Amino acid sequence: MTVAELDALPKEKIINYEHKLTCAACQQKVKQIYQYNLCKKCLVNQFRRLIKIIDSVRR
Ligand SMILES: [Zn+2]
Repeated sequence: MTVAELDALPKEKIINYEHKLTCAACQQKVKQIYQYNLCKKCLVNQFRRLIKIIDSVRR
C-alpha cells in the first residue's frame, strides 16, 4: 500500500486496519492476526501454556 492510497482511506478504516494487525500480547505489528488478536508466535505460546496446564492436571 502506498502513502497516497493510505491517505485516500477514511480515518476509521485506517484505525480498524491497524488494530486488526497489532498483536494483543506482544503489541507487534503483524501481517496476519489469529484468535484473540494474537500473532502466530503468541498463539503458539498460549497453546503451549495450555498444554502444560492440561498435562499438570492429568498427573
Ligand atoms: Zn504476538
